[in-house]
Amino acid sequence: MTDAAVTNETGWDEAGTRRELALHAAVRQGLVGAAEPVTGLLDATGIERSARALHAAFATPGVAITHTFAVKAASLVPVLALLGECGLGAEVASPGELALARAAGIPAAATVLDSPAKTVAELREALALGIAVNADNPQELARIDGLLDGGPCAAPIGLRVNPQVGGGSIDAMSTATATSKFGVALRDPGALDWVLAAYARRPWLNRLHTHTGSQGVPLELMAAGVLAAYELAERINAAAGRQQVTVLDIGGGLPVNFGSDEVTPSFTDYADLLRARVPGLFDGRYGLVTEFGRALLAKNGTVLARVEYAKSAGGRRIAVTHAGAQVATRTVFTPGAWPLRVLALDGKGYPKGGEQAVQDVAGPCCFAGDLVATGRALPLLEAGDHVALLDTGAYYFSNHFAYNSLPRPAVWAFTAHADGTVDFAPVRAPQTLPELLAESGANLPPLRRG
Ligand SMILES: *Cc1c(COP(=O)(O)O)cnc(C)c1O
Repeated sequence: MTDAAVTNETGWDEAGTRRELALHAAVRQGLVGAAEPVTGLLDATGIERSARALHAAFATPGVAITHTFAVKAASLVPVLALLGECGLGAEVASPGELALARAAGIPAAATVLDSPAKTVAELREALALGIAVNADNPQELARIDGLLDGGPCAAPIGLRVNPQVGGGSIDAMSTATATSKFGVALRDPGALDWVLAAYARRPWLNRLHTHTGSQGVPLELMAAGVLAAYELAERINAAAGRQQVTVLDIGGGLPVNFGSDEVTPSFTDYADLLRARVPGLFDGRYGLVTEFGRALLAKNGTVLARVEYAKSAGGRRIAVTHAGAQVATRTVFTPGAWPLRVLALDGKGYPKGGEQAVQDVAGPCCFAGDLVATGRALPLLEAGDHVALLDTGAYYFSNHFAYNSLPRPAVWAFTAHADGTVDFAPVRAPQTLPELLAESGANLPPLRRG
């Protein structure tokens, strides 16, 4: 199949077609091969469109909205800079993430610091930079009191509350359960009174934050969490006799459809649900902050890897590829919660035809569970073919797991054109062997015995 055939059949501007063009072009241009057997690909056009869809979904006359990107979902400076150009800020949760956001040119006014374990040094830096801080708990709020020492506070400060509205289908992603480690548990005895008193004592406390969960949390539950935060802000403001809470930070967490190329639920689905369930959020009295990660990036990323060997064991066919736990950690360790679509590609990076065979798709790591798909019906994979792991733009190749000293693969951003050509721009260089050695202490003096 030629590139022209691909573009004519399906229209070059569909996400799936752009991806198909990029996979073939990446193989042809040698971005994946014997020397670099696995790589990450990001659809720059798709990222820009996802950002545009987010802005469009929430835009409301008279409401100031800051959309931040949860940096942990794709901690890559060129991605943060691209999103910055698209009008997004950054949600950071560690000194490293803050440094990445600053390196990408994200202004302090569009940066939010959330973390359940901020140190005094981190808090001091954020306050000095004027970055918004969401305190997680009473002890952290007391630390901020100490740092301000009765003086004025230039940075916006909020408190994270856990509305305890319940969890979704993945326990590890559910942040609003009764016993979640995040925020002030609002329904615990005495908690509401404590929150009201905390705001009454601190006139500079002017934001309220909640993040109800991530993948697996139903939209209605997310909206219930936002409603609880909104109602709390109304009570705080009524008690204060003024608009003390001026900004509601509603977190991120829009789930992603890993089953097909369809984008569902969409940012519009969620924004419309919020307009219905929490109309006061959009009436102009509050500014809004959002913190989406996965929904902005997941469907814009693909892992492309070579099939090194094809074998069979106990009647099961196994394709041994270079994409395993190091780039698809969650899928390998909790396959039931994080199934991925796998495309079978031939040696040139074109979709493989032919009869389907049930097979396992394994990674390169030395443990038996290093499988990204099991019992999957795919065109039979052979040595020299390729596999593509779809929807891996968030929390996959950008969150490397250094098992077996496997190097961090390169990441490329692609732009597909109407004539079928594809340009690639580097997003992250592949980790070199000298870098890997240095990171593993190779340049340090030997340990002394005894
Ligand atoms: C992880 C996280 C997000 C982003 O979650 P997604 O599911 O990627 O949208 C937003 N806010 C906070 C506080 C988070 O911890």
